Amino acid sequence: PDTPSYRGRFAPSPTGALHFGSLIAALASYADARAHQGAWILRMEDLDRPRERPGAAERILETLRAFGFAWDEPILYQSARTSAYEEALARLTQLGLAYPCGCTRSEIAATATLGAEGPVYPGTCREGLAQGRAQRSIRLNTHGTQIHFEDRIQGPQSQSIEESIGDFVLHRADGIHAYQLAVVVDDAHQNITHVVRGADLLLSTPRQILLQRLLGFSRPTYAHVPLILDEQGRKLSKSYAAAPVDPSDPLPALNLAWRLLGQPSLPEHGSPEAFWDLAIPRWRLEDIPSREAITIT
Ligand code: GLU
Repeated sequence: PDTPSYRGRFAPSPTGALHFGSLIAALASYADARAHQGAWILRMEDLDRPRERPGAAERILETLRAFGFAWDEPILYQSARTSAYEEALARLTQLGLAYPCGCTRSEIAATATLGAEGPVYPGTCREGLAQGRAQRSIRLNTHGTQIHFEDRIQGPQSQSIEESIGDFVLHRADGIHAYQLAVVVDDAHQNITHVVRGADLLLSTPRQILLQRLLGFSRPTYAHVPLILDEQGRKLSKSYAAAPVDPSDPLPALNLAWRLLGQPSLPEHGSPEAFWDLAIPRWRLEDIPSREAITIT
């Protein structure tokens, strides 16, 4: 098959309504894909059933339609992809890189140092489960891997996964495949070439690059758009836009998102379709502030 030149995606989790933070990520990935004549694909990350809210996936899709987003190809639902995740996990186990872990959250918290995202798993079960311990989760042995990548917005990044995150979970104690594994398997399955998403996932990217490398997948490029914070430094999603965006009034939110991303002002427009017609040819990723967060007052 032809190597695609640009395949982007938006991958919401149906844990609630689409909020302003997600709209920013959706807008940036859509505009960047369309400005490159690329495909834009929707993936519903409905993997975390305990956190899922009934009806949320349908509401997100309705909101995206009301905002004038038009996606290519059928939507991929992660809830239908379990066997692909199992296969990837089996491969990592065969390679001797995935191992069973019997530790509970509180046991880890008691001995771990604090890393970039909380306790760094101290590797307790790396050499095998202690006698009498039952398996809870499956982790990846990160043995000293240093990952470097160039983010299209945030610039050069580097992380020692072992030191700042630790051996991370691939299969959770509640039986669910971890986001890090699923996202890598699906980005590869869907031939995604360009990932554009919120900077809350910047720290996850090295784990995803490592998994791509171990599974023999190619690496997409990454662009992490700044998070929007309010004056108190809270995620905007916790205040203004924990309030979901209003599907009956899309233009104010579209225009605010556009402006916050540092994009050039647009001529008058009266509909989301007119917004996109004007916005896409004017899209400039290089004008997005290269910061992990923007504070608005
Ligand atoms: N489903 C994830 C979220 O809603 C995003 C995954 C991604 O873009 O890689 O936060």
